[in-house]
Amino acid sequence: MKKLMAANWKMYKMRAEATATASDLVARLDGRLPEDREVLVIPPFTALWAVGGAFAGKTGLSLGGQDLYPAKEGAFTGEIAPDMLRDAGCRYVLTGHSERRHVLGEDDAFVGKKTAFGLAAGLSVILCVGEKVEERKAGQLEAVVTRQLAAGLADVPSEVSPEALAVAYEPVWAIGTGLTAGPKEVEEAHAMIRAWLIERFGPQTGPSVRILYGGSVKPGNAELLLGIDNVDGVLVGGASLEAESFAAIVTA
Ligand code: PEP
Repeated sequence: MKKLMAANWKMYKMRAEATATASDLVARLDGRLPEDREVLVIPPFTALWAVGGAFAGKTGLSLGGQDLYPAKEGAFTGEIAPDMLRDAGCRYVLTGHSERRHVLGEDDAFVGKKTAFGLAAGLSVILCVGEKVEERKAGQLEAVVTRQLAAGLADVPSEVSPEALAVAYEPVWAIGTGLTAGPKEVEEAHAMIRAWLIERFGPQTGPSVRILYGGSVKPGNAELLLGIDNVDGVLVGGASLEAESFAAIVTA
């Protein structure tokens, strides 16, 4: 499967700026997107149509939503349904991003509901997991991440297509801080997640579910990170906001 190079624009960019950045990215990657890579841009909801328009007719470029609410429709003010994301052109959606967990207070069980609902609605879901610095220091990395995986994937059928599911390992202390986990830390965490996925989904599916790394990925460290075993892509925040730096990561 192709490496998934994902850009999370968080709550940045008005429509015009989103259009300009997406068009710039298309131009920079024209004829230069490596065969083994797939690009995903995850803009704020208000810019989905704009980015989708800039990507129209291009191959290897997909659109994703930053979150979803686990219902088809209804009285859920401020929320967005998976069908609405699909209607806006999304193929992917994030669940359990650390900012949703730790700023907005989402718990593991709610993240699990979102993940299962998004998959059932036909989206490909990227479940984000990762430990806080105090948890790592207390030796709780494996306990925290496997708890998030177990709850986040609790209702996902074992026969899920590996194309429809990815896990992003994002140590909370590395997100937006400029601190990147070292190659050994990344390798160990990804190996632990891979073993868990094989145990949970079996020897056919478990090895194929992509595991992305996220946390201060930059043009200068992307090649190193992408060369680590079980790193099947990256999830990039800050450095994805400029087309120049994100294109450099995609082609690293
Ligand atoms: C993220 O938003 O998922 C992220 C990893 O952000 P940053 O690259 O800025 O650390």
